[in-house]
Amino acid sequence: MLKLANRVQTLTPSTTLAITAKANELKAQGVDVIGLGAGEPDYNTPQNILDAAERSMEEGKTKYTPAGGLPALKQAIQDKLQRDQGLSYEKNEILVGVGAKHVLYTLFQVLLNEDDEVIIPIPYWVSYPEQVKLAGGVPVYIEATAGQSYKITPQQLREAITDRTKAVIINSPSNPTGMLYSKEELEALAEVCREADILIVSDEIYEKLIYGDATHISVAELSEDAKSRTVIINGVSKSHSMTGWRIGYAAGDKELIKAMTDLASHSTSNPTTTSQYAAIEAYNGPQDAVEEMRQAFESRLEAIFPKVQEIPGFTVLRPQGAFYLLPDVSEAAAKTGFSSVDDFAKALLEEANVAVIPGSGFGAHSTIRLSYATSLELLEQAVERISQFVHKHW
Ligand code: PLP
Repeated sequence: MLKLANRVQTLTPSTTLAITAKANELKAQGVDVIGLGAGEPDYNTPQNILDAAERSMEEGKTKYTPAGGLPALKQAIQDKLQRDQGLSYEKNEILVGVGAKHVLYTLFQVLLNEDDEVIIPIPYWVSYPEQVKLAGGVPVYIEATAGQSYKITPQQLREAITDRTKAVIINSPSNPTGMLYSKEELEALAEVCREADILIVSDEIYEKLIYGDATHISVAELSEDAKSRTVIINGVSKSHSMTGWRIGYAAGDKELIKAMTDLASHSTSNPTTTSQYAAIEAYNGPQDAVEEMRQAFESRLEAIFPKVQEIPGFTVLRPQGAFYLLPDVSEAAAKTGFSSVDDFAKALLEEANVAVIPGSGFGAHSTIRLSYATSLELLEQAVERISQFVHKHW
């Protein structure tokens, strides 16, 4: 009789993927479903990157690479960090992995002992708690409310730290909130981390997708101390529309990076070689496509944000980055006769044929996440359907 390991007994599948599967099932039955669940840009990978990948294959560069990534890709990442953040890292302070997700997984595996704590702000990206638990750690949550723009305060952080705290995760811009920490806010949080001597995991995967006059600051830029206790996590998935290529990286302390590289040498051997050559071009080649995509997301945001704001019972903050809106819909759900936002989201899919992600997956039970990584035409139709659904049942 099959008996699975204890560590997977509480493992839950990604909510995001579950909704997408349900939406696809309805689509296969011929239902006209509009998906607002996507966590990836709706653009093709830029042509220069495709060409570089093809060239590398034709040149026979299809064998194993060093476990932590090709030196040329590490160099491209070093140059990127210098160019964008003014940060200087050595090659032995960088690990290239199979997407930022697996890099984070590897990080928690080498960092955490049984019952070590990792502080995770709510709303959180779905995989953080699961990855911490899989490594034997304990997620400790801090609730960042809409009233505090979904950002944690230094006071909250201080109160959550115990003598078992190993790290705090900062995801700016955030999935699912789209919020961005300012330099002053990061400085205050970094000071608390310095006092308590804990690590900062800085997930910067949405760095290139920021809007209005907002600017992205990496916590590692703030001071030598902040740099030394920060592991930057980033990659090409969202910036260069390369989600399927699976290339992400970590930049941080060399002892930590060595342990992660050793683990990678026994788990992945190396990130896919062709994808690494594509990523070299992504970082070294022209960046016009990155900016074009950013502008497209920003104009979609401008177009749909006021419409979402107008839906009765929806309260929504204007995001400064990423490509998600996270309206609090608790009032709309209650007024339309649903006992939970999960049920409301289920009805939106089944009756209004719009797939959204219920916020329960992010620890934010009164919200739903709408992704605007889809065409403006579909976005407008989807928002109209949601609005009609709410008006009809109000
Ligand atoms: N971090 C956050 C906040 C994300 O939203 C995602 C992807 O959805 C990732 C990391 C992982 O990205 P990758 O495709 O590089 O694994």
